[in-house]
Amino acid sequence: MKIREDFLPLSKPSIGENEINNVVNCLKSGWITTGPACKQFEDKFCELTGASRAITVNSATAGMHIVLLALKIGQGDEVITPSMTFASTINMIAIQKAKPVFVDIDYNTLNINADLIEEKITSRTKAIIPVHFAGVPADMDKIIKIAKKHNLIIIEDAAHAVGTYYKGIHAGGFGHIAIYSFHPIKNITSGEGGMITLNDEKLEKDLRLLRFHGIERDAWKRYGKGGNPEYNISSPGFKYNLTDMQASLGLAQLSRLDEINGRRAEIAAIYKTGLKDIKGLELPGIAGYSHIDSNHLFVIKVLSMDRGLFMEKLSEYNIGYGLHFPACHLLDYVKRDFGTKKVILPETERAAEKIISLPLFPDMKNEDASYVCEAIKEILK
Ligand SMILES: *Cc1c(COP(=O)(O)O)cnc(C)c1O
Repeated sequence: MKIREDFLPLSKPSIGENEINNVVNCLKSGWITTGPACKQFEDKFCELTGASRAITVNSATAGMHIVLLALKIGQGDEVITPSMTFASTINMIAIQKAKPVFVDIDYNTLNINADLIEEKITSRTKAIIPVHFAGVPADMDKIIKIAKKHNLIIIEDAAHAVGTYYKGIHAGGFGHIAIYSFHPIKNITSGEGGMITLNDEKLEKDLRLLRFHGIERDAWKRYGKGGNPEYNISSPGFKYNLTDMQASLGLAQLSRLDEINGRRAEIAAIYKTGLKDIKGLELPGIAGYSHIDSNHLFVIKVLSMDRGLFMEKLSEYNIGYGLHFPACHLLDYVKRDFGTKKVILPETERAAEKIISLPLFPDMKNEDASYVCEAIKEILK
């Protein structure tokens, strides 16, 4: 087959006139940091998820940091999480001096295996952080049941899950805490950014203080007409707020969510058809419960060729790729500080060596996806 001239990246944000106009309007408005656009973005997230409260932050990582802090999860506490996730979650647990306790995944879906959670619970366990991997929800009924029984907090890592539904409920809509990411690779972007959804008034208040210096009242209200510019701080906070420029971009993206995720589903369908029954290659498994997949990533497993070599071949065909994710329990500092090692999570380790993410973004053409399928057939022949 003929090798394409231009490089097909793993991902590219879909930025149209709507996005550009929204940001330009914000720039012209005279208020560009946290303000009315962030408020509107929060309201729209409550509508989408069914959560009663939402807080914009400048990344999902920042959101996880202040959530763990506000919940007073720290030294001596254990947090249950998959190892097959982005390292930022584990970093925040470690920075809080708590201990990540890893649960193995279902090899096929790469999602946390909910049946293995309970055996990892001890008297020190405080929270469970399920990840809706690649846009497929974790098995929330089982997780909620376990959390109730043992009185644990659930923090959904919903970084992949804008537009993800489990049995008709959007991620974050189960009455717990959820954290979303708007990094440019995610389904919708605000450049960088994140959102926390929750249903607890006191926790919301604490999170808003931690997000912005520990200062009560919003700056845009302090600086408005008749506002009181004085402030006091009862405990220190961070500088983790989102700007209105970012929220304006995020709002434009959110208004296109159905279109964006619809297009992702079409690309994924081309892969599923074009790559089926290829020897030496496994497609993503399908979760055994009713759900809607946001199609954040398309992760295949390469069995019949060394993955390094497979990636080299993709590069020769001008195709980009990603690795989601290197197993967290095998990162150097995690092994050193938490005593993890190989052979403790067999399914995670089996998958981690073979996974590779294919290009998937809304502005990709059908021909791009077909080209990837043909190239993979040739590479594995
Ligand atoms: C991207 C990602 C995060 C972190 O998001 P940021 O907004 O970049 O901080 C957390 N968890 C998972 C699973 C992710 O993919």
